[in-house]
Amino acid sequence: MFIDTHCHLDFPEFNQDRDQVIQRSRDNGIDYIINIGSSLSGSQKSYELAQKYDFIYATCGIHPHEADKADEKTLGSLWEIAKEDKIVAIGETGLDYYKNYSKPENQMSLFISLVKLAKEIDLPLVIHSREAQEDILKVLKSSLSLKAVIHCFSGDADFLKDCLDLGFFISFTCNLTYKKAENLRNLAKVTPLERLMLETDAPFLSPEGFRGKRNEPLYVKNLAQEISRIKKISVEEVARITTENAKKFFKLSDPALS
Ligand SMILES: [Zn+2]
Repeated sequence: MFIDTHCHLDFPEFNQDRDQVIQRSRDNGIDYIINIGSSLSGSQKSYELAQKYDFIYATCGIHPHEADKADEKTLGSLWEIAKEDKIVAIGETGLDYYKNYSKPENQMSLFISLVKLAKEIDLPLVIHSREAQEDILKVLKSSLSLKAVIHCFSGDADFLKDCLDLGFFISFTCNLTYKKAENLRNLAKVTPLERLMLETDAPFLSPEGFRGKRNEPLYVKNLAQEISRIKKISVEEVARITTENAKKFFKLSDPALS
């Protein structure tokens, strides 16, 4: 059993064959998909996917890239989606000082608002952090305690340690399979399996062998394979524990029971 805890099946890259991609994931042993909202319309579409498929859950959030465009009205509408059934987290949210598509001060105020929302409605956070680890920690530490996963982990060893000390989860993507990802593999090695989750971030970051092509949830298995190699345990063990982690973190109910 595998869970892709972070993908964007609402993106236009899937407009031609979305249902087939979802069916292919299901047929290949992906038992749950968490579709991540990264804008107001993306959150709405993620919610619609969760309504359509019993094994898809959704989050609602606004990516830091979109921060310049987010106003009070956007936040109000997001708040409404957040209360819906099958919305299992707030995010993605965070800071991206690498691309800086939105002004840092706007990213910061949006991030603070979404952390507040998550706390108020008692949902975990899906965090995007790119070259912003100090500010990410500053914000999160100021509103403890909270549940969070640092998605597509790309920080250094100190940031990893701080996040683990704060009880956060770490999720790696298929970029862990890249030849030059030795540094990332070393960080995965020291992350306890009990604190690790798997994600594809599809349509982005296809695994080695598929680079340049569109990523899909089923490739979460390539990532599991890589982690089993790094940690010298079976793929079944990686699947079992990361699935358990994700089910607890997002409070997923068993589709067979619903
Ligand atoms: Zn993402």
